[in-house]
Amino acid sequence: MSEPILTVDDLRVSYGRVEAVRGVSFQAAPGSLVTLVGANGAGKSSVINAVSGMLRPAGGRITFEGQDITRTPAHKLVGRGLVQVPEGRQILATLTIEENLQMGAWHSGGRGQTGGEAAGSVEAMYDRFPVLAERRGLPAGALSGGEQQMLAIARALVAAPKVMLMDEPSMGLAPKIVDEVFRVIEEIRASGTTVVLVEQNARRALRAADHGYVLQSGEVVHSGPAAELLADERIVQAYLGVD
Ligand code: ATP
Repeated sequence: MSEPILTVDDLRVSYGRVEAVRGVSFQAAPGSLVTLVGANGAGKSSVINAVSGMLRPAGGRITFEGQDITRTPAHKLVGRGLVQVPEGRQILATLTIEENLQMGAWHSGGRGQTGGEAAGSVEAMYDRFPVLAERRGLPAGALSGGEQQMLAIARALVAAPKVMLMDEPSMGLAPKIVDEVFRVIEEIRASGTTVVLVEQNARRALRAADHGYVLQSGEVVHSGPAAELLADERIVQAYLGVD
């Protein structure tokens, strides 16, 4: 395997006395799609929030492109190409779609593109997501749940990420829209961006992924090539639930 672009080693996250993440380790090879799956409360969001710099870990080490980023705040990481699409979208509902996309460029601190060039990058998103182009002047809150998810993904893409962290992008969406979100995720990966995907929709995520990690109570209980995890009846029964 080539040198991982992202390495998480013995990560610990605590909320007061609650130890939500208890020594999680995983790696992502450049250009790969890695998924963390597990039940509600397994610690998936805590892991991804620690990696993106939104949460300060209680212990462990996170390395991005060979450099220690364990305590680097989120806004600095965006500028270096490590970008999170947050759970629940967190788009700015009262701003227009266009303004939301411009925020993505601005947050990237010039890594995407700034000024005149940012418009080019936002334009690229309109080509990729025509539904956003048609409605660019509308408040983002007027979009459907699926469209808001697309906007959240597009906003992250404006920052030209090397690694994109995604927290439950299919949550609360109709099956047809989930298909669309996964198609977009696979396209992002095909374009060379490394994707770390947190999902409760474990089967779906593993079908799209190269490598999977199954979390339970803040620990990795299984890991391996995604196809092998899916093929293991015991793992499917115990952790992945019904379709
Ligand atoms: P979900 O799918 O519900 O987001 P998850 O696998 O992402 O689940 P986390 O959200 O990381 O899991 O939560 C892991 C544990 O940490 C849970 O027991 C949860 O109750 C607890 N937890 C999460 N956030 C907080 C917080 N801000 N304060 C206290 N406890 C928290």
